[in-house]
Amino acid sequence: MRWYAPRKLHEALALLTERPDLIPIAGGTDIMVGRDPRACGHDYLSLANVAALRGIRETPAGVAIGALATMTEIGRHPIVCRALPALAASARATGAFAIQNRATLGGNIMNASPAADNAPVLLAYGASVSLMSVARLRHVPYENFHSGYKVTVRRPEEILGEIFVPYAPLGARHYFRKVGTRRAQAISKVGLAALLVGRPGAWERVRFGFSSVAATPILACALAATITGTARGLPDDEGLAEALGRDLAARDDIRSTAEYRRRIALNLVREALAPWRHQGGCDAGQ
Ligand SMILES: Cc1cc2nc3c(=O)[nH]c(=O)nc-3n(C[C@H](O)[C@H](O)[C@H](O)COP(=O)(O)OP(=O)(O)OC[C@H]3O[C@@H](n4cnc5c(N)ncnc54)[C@H](O)[C@@H]3O)c2cc1C
Repeated sequence: MRWYAPRKLHEALALLTERPDLIPIAGGTDIMVGRDPRACGHDYLSLANVAALRGIRETPAGVAIGALATMTEIGRHPIVCRALPALAASARATGAFAIQNRATLGGNIMNASPAADNAPVLLAYGASVSLMSVARLRHVPYENFHSGYKVTVRRPEEILGEIFVPYAPLGARHYFRKVGTRRAQAISKVGLAALLVGRPGAWERVRFGFSSVAATPILACALAATITGTARGLPDDEGLAEALGRDLAARDDIRSTAEYRRRIALNLVREALAPWRHQGGCDAGQ
């Protein structure tokens, strides 16, 4: 096994162009415990020393987060806590403190687990990611990033550079909740993040991102269409469940059953919509 650890981004990109078989490694918390046979006997490209991939920047339109930003940095960052509270919450819910000190946001989404805790939040906020190679830089909406179970649109010669998360409008409801066996160090059975702007009958933005209910993290488009398409009030539970049935492809696995996941997903959606359910929402508006 060989281990390459460049300090400059252009050196890392050049190495990956020459050796697209190299496996990038950031915090190593997925790779080091990995059971992925593709990672065995390979050579690695450590990104840990590449300063250009670090940092969290405030821009006029949103927050630009370097792929190497750790969960600890994100969960404590004043701009993230103020402008993107759901992302601060998901970072703080990722593993326990020791993991959070090493685990990066880039690694969390590149690992492409359907259970990744930060993925639903990035979907709800409408994030985009930059993929860089020697030849070019491209920006991909995060909702198009996962192309299958543990597969992304990243090409072998590309490095994930930055995750850009746009600001939400003032007055938005930011929601994140992870349901697992325990509060800490548990992989989610279901995770939901939502960004809700407006009110029943006059929604400006309705976005729900889920983890652990399909082969990839998903943006629940049928659910959003049902909510925004309801002229007065909110859809009733039956309507929400029917829409979720079209979005979710929940399965039984070692952590949970498909039936439990569907029920919890509905409960989480109800909780996300709670501010409107009791004031001219479902009950009063219909
Ligand atoms: C005990 C334990 C508990 C955990 N708990 C949770 C949890 O609660 N929630 C959760 O979501 N995850 C959890 N994880 C998984 C893991 O910690 C996270 O997914 C973490 O964010 C991965 O980041 P990393 O920097 O360590 O990635 P790495 O292990 O370094 O890499 C992960 C993948 O991303 C690729 N990669 C990394 N950076 C880049 C880049 N910039 N460009 C291209 N490819 C890149 C690597 O090649 C690899 O395929 C846990 C892991 C452990 C060991």
